[in-house]
Amino acid sequence: MKRIIQHWINNEYTNGVEQETSPVTNPATGAVSGEVIMGGSQTVDQAVNAAKRAFPNWRDTSLSKRVGIVFKYRELLNQRKEELASIITAEHGKVLDDALGEVMRGLEVVEFACGIPHLLKGSYTENASTRVDVHSKRQPLGPVAIISPFNFPAMVPMWFFPIAIATGNTVVIKPSEKDPSAVNWEAELWKEAGLPDGVFNVVHGGKDAVDRLLTHEDIESVSFVGSTPIAQYVYKTATAHGKRVQALGGAKNHMVVLPDADLDLAADNAINAGFGSAGERCMAISVLLAVGDIAEELVDKIAKRAQALRTGDGNRGTDMGPLVTSAHRDKVSGYIDAGEREGATIVVDGRQGDFDSEGAGFFLGPTLFDHVTPEMSIYTEEIFGPVLSVVRVESYKEAIELINANPYGNGTAIFTHDGGVARKFENEVQVGMIGINVPIPVPIAYYSFGGWKNSLFGDTHAHGTEGIHFFTRGKVITTRWPDPSHGGINLGFPKNE
Ligand code: NAD
Repeated sequence: MKRIIQHWINNEYTNGVEQETSPVTNPATGAVSGEVIMGGSQTVDQAVNAAKRAFPNWRDTSLSKRVGIVFKYRELLNQRKEELASIITAEHGKVLDDALGEVMRGLEVVEFACGIPHLLKGSYTENASTRVDVHSKRQPLGPVAIISPFNFPAMVPMWFFPIAIATGNTVVIKPSEKDPSAVNWEAELWKEAGLPDGVFNVVHGGKDAVDRLLTHEDIESVSFVGSTPIAQYVYKTATAHGKRVQALGGAKNHMVVLPDADLDLAADNAINAGFGSAGERCMAISVLLAVGDIAEELVDKIAKRAQALRTGDGNRGTDMGPLVTSAHRDKVSGYIDAGEREGATIVVDGRQGDFDSEGAGFFLGPTLFDHVTPEMSIYTEEIFGPVLSVVRVESYKEAIELINANPYGNGTAIFTHDGGVARKFENEVQVGMIGINVPIPVPIAYYSFGGWKNSLFGDTHAHGTEGIHFFTRGKVITTRWPDPSHGGINLGFPKNE
C-alpha cells in the first residue's frame, strides 16, 4: 500500500479537496516512498478558514498558557529529535547527523519563543504631557502563511512558526512537496503539546496552493524561503495584495582565504561548508577566493580531503548524502560539464565514484574546480550541489570587489589571523551574515537570519527581534483620565505641555 501524505487542518489529517498527488522519493535508493496530495485553492481555503476561526481565541489566550504550550513543544521535540532527523534523512537525503543538527537549530528558535512574555513587553511613559500617559503594545496579525523550501524541511519552518504562534497568530504552512513529512510530524507534535485546533495547519502542494495563499484576503503575512526567482514573485504578488512579506532567496556564498590564514583550518572548513548536506544549503560555500600565492597549496589540501569523503546513504555513517531528486542531480552534473567546457580545471570530479547505497540513489561525489573565472556559469549561477569553485585573486581588494559585485548577499566568510583586515571586511562587505574564521555563520536564534540584495526581498529578517516585529504590529495609546482642568474646546494640534 502506498503511503499517502495528507494535509493537516484543525488538528487532524485530511485529503482536502483536490485529488492530484506527486511522488516522494528516498533519494538514497531512488525508491518512491509515498505520494503527497497536491492541494489547490479549495484546500487552502479550508485551512485559512480554520486559522481564521481559531485566531480570536488564540490571540486572547494568556501569555502564560501560550508559553506553556510552546514550552511543552520544546520538551517533546527535544525528547524525540532523532525521530524527526530520520524523517529528514529519508526524504531529503542528508546524513543523519546533519539532519539532527538541523533539528537542533530549529529547537533553538522554539527555545527563543519560550521567552516571548519578556520580548513582547511594551513601554510606558507617565506624564508625557500633564496628566497624559502613553504606552505601547504589540499585537498579533491574524492568520499568517509560511512557504518553505526542500533543503531544510524541519528547520526553516521553525525559523517562523514558533514565533508566529507564541505571539498569538495562527498559521497555514505550505512545505516543499519534495520532502513534506517533516512538517506533518511537527504538526502532530503541536497537537500533543496541547495547541488548540486550527492554530497550526499544513497544506501540501505547489504553485496552485502558493498562489492562493499569496492572494487570500484573510492571510495577513507571508514568510517565504526558496530560490530567488520565486522569492521575487512571492514578494511582488503578496505585497500587491496588501500583505506583509519576508521572502528569502538564493545565494552564492564566497569564502576569502588570506595568505596569513591557517591553511589546514581553511581547507577543513571549505570542505565542511562546501560539501555538507551535498551543498544543498543556502549558507553553503560555493566559491573560494584564494588571495595571493596560497592557491596551489590550498587546492592540494582541499583536494586530498575531498577525495577522502565517503558519499552514500545518509543512514550508513557516510559523510555526504545524495541530491534531493534525480532531476536536481542531473542539473548539478550539467553545471560540472559546463565548467569543464568553459575552461576551469577539474581537480576532483564528482561525476565518478563509488557510492555506498543499495538501489539507484541520486548521487554525485564532491567536485572541486580550480582556475574558475567570474564569467563562467559555475561562478555566476547558484548550483546548489557539492561543487566548490576556486577563484585565484591577487589581493584582498580584488576579493571584496567580487563579493560586492555579486547579485546575491546571503553569507560570506573570511579566514585570516589579521584582526584589522577582518574588521575592515566586516564593515565593507555587502552581505547579511558574515563569518570570521567561521565558514557557515548561521546566526543563533536570538539574532536574526537574513541576506542582502537578491537573497532577501522585504525588510525583515527571520527570527530574533526582527521575527517578533514581523509577526506583530504596534499600537501606541495616549491616555488622559477625566479631570476638570482638561482645557475645554481647542481645535489646534495637540501640544505636549
Ligand atoms: P523553490 O523556490 O523551488 O521552492 C520553494 C517553495 O516555493 C516550495 O514550497 C515550492 O513548492 C514553492 N514553489 C516552487 N515553484 C513555485 C512557483 N512557480 N510558484 C509558487 N511557488 C513555487 O526552492 P527549493 O528548490 O525548494 O529550495 C532551494 C532554494 O532555496 C535555493 O535557491 C536556496 O538558496 C534557497 N534557500 C534560501 C534560504 C535563505 O535563507 N535565503 C534558505 C534555504 C534555502
